[in-house]
Amino acid sequence: MALIVQKYGGTSVGNVERIKNVAAKVKAQWSQGHRVVVVVSARSGVTNELVARAKALSSLPEEREMDVLLATGEQETIALTVMALHAIGVPAVSRTGAQAGIVTDDRHTRARIVRITGGDLLARLDEGKVVVVAGFQGATESGEVTTLGRGGSDLTAIAVAASIKADLCQIYTDVDGVYTADPRVVLDARKLPALSHEEMLELASSGSKVMQARSVEFAQKHNVTFEVRSSFNDNPGTLIKSMDKTLEDAAVAGVALDRSQTRVTVGDLPDRPDAVAALFADLGDAGLSVDMIIKNLGKDGKANLTFSVNTDAYAKAEKVIAETLRRLGSGTVRSAGEVAKLSVVGVGMISHSGVAATLFKALASVGVNSDLITTSEIKISVALDPAKADEAVRAVHAAFGLGK
Ligand code: ASP
Ligand code: MG
Repeated sequence: MALIVQKYGGTSVGNVERIKNVAAKVKAQWSQGHRVVVVVSARSGVTNELVARAKALSSLPEEREMDVLLATGEQETIALTVMALHAIGVPAVSRTGAQAGIVTDDRHTRARIVRITGGDLLARLDEGKVVVVAGFQGATESGEVTTLGRGGSDLTAIAVAASIKADLCQIYTDVDGVYTADPRVVLDARKLPALSHEEMLELASSGSKVMQARSVEFAQKHNVTFEVRSSFNDNPGTLIKSMDKTLEDAAVAGVALDRSQTRVTVGDLPDRPDAVAALFADLGDAGLSVDMIIKNLGKDGKANLTFSVNTDAYAKAEKVIAETLRRLGSGTVRSAGEVAKLSVVGVGMISHSGVAATLFKALASVGVNSDLITTSEIKISVALDPAKADEAVRAVHAAFGLGK
């Protein structure tokens, strides 16, 4: 008999009917004798609604109070899910993050898990009960409620699975797996049967919104195998596991697109190593990550720097950079408009050559030019005109033979 963690996202518990559907899925496992822990998100839209209400009262609500507020979304769904299970004869009990022993640091609204005691999870499972745990929340050592950052229920599921050494961790969501590209853009995109943590991580941070990147990182670090699958059908999903690179035959597993990047141009920066270092250090200290950097030499000992940040983070980045430049005594900062970031990802790149050639040939075939480029061992990303992004993804997907 297996020990299974199942996580259901906001859409899967979005209303009473859907919560009944979740209960039925849980019952199917439980009645075969499996021990089941269920992790749920808030109903879809609820967390956003709570954020909006807080913002209507205060432009800068205190983060401790935000956590007290946001944690209520998941508290609603654990209770309702347990009630739905009781209604179909399944013994079950709910646990908040704190009760499940999810101990975090005190960085409210983006807390990190420091350890998981598991609370009484295993004892309740041994009694034959299903335990339903609130995703996205934990508590500090001193008992303050914290949340784990948006999308954090995935992290709860992976972390609980790691701590109780579950045999299987299933992430039920509104898509039925990870595809070679967004099926809404690329009609012949294929569902991938399996992917490595590394690939999933690159896809998650390259705009494929299937899962929170932090959760994948945690799974990689703790070697948790998990499956992404749909709560609306019984199709097998995509298995994410540590993979032997030598088994890879295809160079590229998928093409991801992130439409929400903004190009930042810093002009007239003193061309000294300490100036560039100060700029990126200040951005890092402000919790801002940058991507796709290029530096051009200007004249008179000045340099120009271009890079991309998340569009959501642009206003903050501009403020931070302006302050750095003031300190350095020279330089200007401006937005050079939105860009889309297209990434090809695959562990097979390590052993295949010609990936860049195929990528740029495909981009050329649709007249797309790019000057911002980054690469890692298993990824090449290029920034491009958002208006051409869909066409570019289709061309690249076809060039790597990823279609059906
Ligand atoms: N309810 C939280 C959010 O919307 C956590 C989650 O759904 O994973 O971000
Ligand atoms: Mg989610």
